[in-house]
Amino acid sequence: MMVLPGATIGILGGGQLGRMLALAAAPLGYRVHVYAPETELVAAEVAAQCTRAAYEDRESLAAFASTCDVITYEFENVPSETVAFLETLKPVRPGHEALDVAQDRLAEKRFVEALGGRTAPYRAIESAAQLDAALEQLGLPAILKTRRFGYDGKGQVRIDRPDEAAAAFAELGGTGLILEGFVRFQAEFSVIVARGIDGHEAHYPVCLNRHAGGILARTDIPAAGIPDADVDAATALVVQVADRLGYVGVLTCEFFATDDGPVFNEMAPRVHNSGHWTIEGARTSQFEQHVRAVCGLPLGPVTPTAPRIVMRNLLGDTRAEWPDLLADPTAHLHLYGKSEAVPGRKMGHVTFLSMAPPFKS
Ligand code: AMP
Repeated sequence: MMVLPGATIGILGGGQLGRMLALAAAPLGYRVHVYAPETELVAAEVAAQCTRAAYEDRESLAAFASTCDVITYEFENVPSETVAFLETLKPVRPGHEALDVAQDRLAEKRFVEALGGRTAPYRAIESAAQLDAALEQLGLPAILKTRRFGYDGKGQVRIDRPDEAAAAFAELGGTGLILEGFVRFQAEFSVIVARGIDGHEAHYPVCLNRHAGGILARTDIPAAGIPDADVDAATALVVQVADRLGYVGVLTCEFFATDDGPVFNEMAPRVHNSGHWTIEGARTSQFEQHVRAVCGLPLGPVTPTAPRIVMRNLLGDTRAEWPDLLADPTAHLHLYGKSEAVPGRKMGHVTFLSMAPPFKS
């Protein structure tokens, strides 16, 4: 069951998460084979092998699998059928069940509710009449979202007035939608849990997240202001999600902190942007932890390495900031090597560690 160092880890998806996974696999002696269809694959630049092919291309998938000892994914919109097909050839961790839940906001909410978790009030929407009725029931404001393929605030429209409903419905394509009641939250946080093949779990300190325009802007550790009871309830729910899915790897769930306790927002069956601080800020990064988990190795310690840690995303063209960041001894700059700095695009991140805690031998 253990995939020992020297073996090859296949990664579906070629973005920055794959790049940081490959960078974490290297010191453990693993080789990485990236599989993705895009022309620009920043993960492939730091991987031993790369296959650029469609997720539906069975011949290429089979050839890819024949070179891998274990396969994982860094992108949650990989078709579930692709993962199910690869599972017939090689171990894929986490498996396609996690994708089936995470790819559909409706399935995800039902799954979490069945485990006793709280979600935003919601209604499945397949027609304009259903949307009108749902708006009556859930009230305004509300957020209309596509059930599938949304990310970073894309695929969702906030509705503040009844006369905005028709345009929102048309903008999102009219079917396969979900209407969510607006959650009046004090803060947003995420819980990152790693689960090993033996079911052993390790969870990082919760991350306090601030979004701008639907995109993560900043993560703070510790998550000041989130009551311990909320942290405990949210963590217990994520552990339940992981257990129910027989999950192997790093799993992230995002929550709203409200007066009535934590409200589950969404899950990512993968390493997560809000966990980038763990590269320097935790004794085992989320990327190394994921590699350890999918390879069946023991999980590493998750203790923070500094009393205060801040991660800021570098979106769009931030070249002017790089010299100052590099000159700052508390800052750790990560650039993903993407060629085009489109406004709002995640080009890198920087993690600031406050003074290191006193060394104890
Ligand atoms: P999502 O893609 O669902 O994570 O949404 C992106 C961001 O929009 C979230 O991080 C929240 O800041 C906001 N948001 C999403 N859904 C809701 C909701 N039901 N109520 C309030 N804010 C929301």
